[in-house]
Amino acid sequence: MALRDEILTCLAAVTAPDGTPLTDAGRLSEIVIGDGGRVFFSLAIAPAEAPAWERVRAKAEAAVLAARGVNSVSVTLTAERAPAPAPAKAAATPSMPAPKAPSVAKLAGLAQVRHVIAVASGKGGVGKSTTACNLALGLRALGLKVGVLDADIYGPSMPKLFALKGQPEIVTGKTLRPLEAYGCKVMSIGFVVDAGKAMVWRGPMVASAITQMLRDVAWGPLDVLVVDMPPGTGDAQLTMAQQTPLAGAVIVSTPQDLALIDARRGVSMFRDVGVPILGLVENMSYFICDGCGKRHDIFAHGGARMEAEKLGVPFLGEVPLDIEIRERSDAGLPIVVTAPDGPHAATYRRIAKTVWAELQKANTGGA
Ligand code: ADP
Repeated sequence: MALRDEILTCLAAVTAPDGTPLTDAGRLSEIVIGDGGRVFFSLAIAPAEAPAWERVRAKAEAAVLAARGVNSVSVTLTAERAPAPAPAKAAATPSMPAPKAPSVAKLAGLAQVRHVIAVASGKGGVGKSTTACNLALGLRALGLKVGVLDADIYGPSMPKLFALKGQPEIVTGKTLRPLEAYGCKVMSIGFVVDAGKAMVWRGPMVASAITQMLRDVAWGPLDVLVVDMPPGTGDAQLTMAQQTPLAGAVIVSTPQDLALIDARRGVSMFRDVGVPILGLVENMSYFICDGCGKRHDIFAHGGARMEAEKLGVPFLGEVPLDIEIRERSDAGLPIVVTAPDGPHAATYRRIAKTVWAELQKANTGGA
């Protein structure tokens, strides 16, 4: 019997407080089987149910630990406001095909997250965070459940981009509840560490900070978690790319030659660690003069499209250098939600649609 089915058989013998077998109770998340027989899953409950479900959680852990090939089990109670029975039930059906490797969450906090994607750039200042924010909101506009993890701990910008302040609440133990804005769940190191301190963080600390934010945040059920990576291709970024269960990466570049060289390094870094490239975005692609309305190709636009072709990765689209994008970003009023009928919002939605299509392709083995 496959290990996943064996685990489900063990769980069928555990009962929910109302006597229903756990596999039929509609509370079970996807079961994640990590390296070395490590098993993670969560049980979705309402906060008031926690005392009754703690007993079930302990029993489930003990039951799964008895399965052959299982070396450790981590079961968490996810105190979402409302449990999400539909995906949980589907995931508990033994006949469901196991999800493909890159999108499988290896960390408990990600048990109900379908895809984790990175937004990265070869160097800082190319508009990576602006793209990550608007891409997330573009995915949200497609009706998807979206989270944003600001892993750019050298310069966290999600608190500003989403106009979020304050500290995340503790849900249980050391698990934090992400903040929420414009329908997206957002977690940033900027909520807990002030920006000045984040600057002196060293490589290994960077990697452990992101692991913690993936593991100890109650993300709940999400279709996509967008991770805004720290810029560059150094050791810290490489470790992060390795340790994060990424379904793919979006690379942001400006059209300048130097930025493109850095973008190429970004593409090869992700390829080296086996993360598929979802595509390249050309940001600050051309300039639309707010005075005359004419388009100016100040950086010889089109470089990223050509680079994408050369590298054999999808070209996701071009976003112009526009004062409105900068002003709205600085004011915490992202353009996708605050000017949804404009051309820039449409561009980001198109990029989001392509990213989602690439993720679906990768998941069905079509790419
Ligand atoms: P990175 O994350 O790569 O360091 P940011 O997203 O923080 O870059 O962007 C750097 C600056 O450029 C910010 O002030 C942002 O508002 C601005 N910016 C980003 N993209 C655009 C754009 N397409 N048009 C105008 N300004 C932009």
